[in-house]
Amino acid sequence: MQKLKQIYEGKAKKLYETDDQDLLIQEFKDDATAFDATKRGTIVNKGVINNKLSETIFGLLEKKGIPTHFVKRLNDRDMLVKRVEIVPLEVTMRNIVAGGMAKLLGLEEGIILKRPVLEWHYKEDKLHDPLINDDHALALGIATEKELEAIRKYSVKINEVLTKFFDSKGLTLVDFKLEFGRYKGKIILADEISPDTCRLWDKTTKEKLDKDRFRRDLGNVEEAYQEVLRRVMA
Ligand code: UDP
Repeated sequence: MQKLKQIYEGKAKKLYETDDQDLLIQEFKDDATAFDATKRGTIVNKGVINNKLSETIFGLLEKKGIPTHFVKRLNDRDMLVKRVEIVPLEVTMRNIVAGGMAKLLGLEEGIILKRPVLEWHYKEDKLHDPLINDDHALALGIATEKELEAIRKYSVKINEVLTKFFDSKGLTLVDFKLEFGRYKGKIILADEISPDTCRLWDKTTKEKLDKDRFRRDLGNVEEAYQEVLRRVMA
């Protein structure tokens, strides 16, 4: 499968058309950004690692009955995916308080939530992806009731599957972000699942093994991504 016209370049990925109008090539870059791209850098080999991790995780989710845009990994940095229309919602699932939730509600990081929290963020960089509720999404026509229902159902299931999976690898899944798309009238999971989009802590030491190492200048960023890959593949 050949890369034809580039149709999109985001912070961490590029998208190319292919000779099949239903399929795109998603290329994973090493570029890292944080805080609305005010902090920029490179994490060596991040693209290669996130491509492999996303392949493994999408494969696992498909086996558990979650439809995804994943078709196959083509090489180190490229993944063949179904062409979707992205629903402009970033879905955050949280098991433990961290990041934005700690800040919003003035909470200590690390509090274990009594039940998972699902948040909708309207995907609009210039507004800093504001937190919205179901009513906002419906009233503004961001998604239909049926779509929100499907997205919620899949997100809850993904959290169950991934919490168990990462736990078996000695990692605690603190929180993560998902994006969904419309494909042939159905909702499917899109984007990526990687240490860029998940908070993963070592189960025993609680060491952060995700993008917070970059956001917070904790050092050993590449090593943390490599460690997640090593454990996931083991
Ligand atoms: N996240 C993401 N992209 C974003 C914002 C958040 O992948 O644009 C992920 C982030 O890595 C974390 C989860 O979503 O695993 C929750 O992030 P949060 O809302 O706490 O925001 P942050 O602390 O990253 O500002």
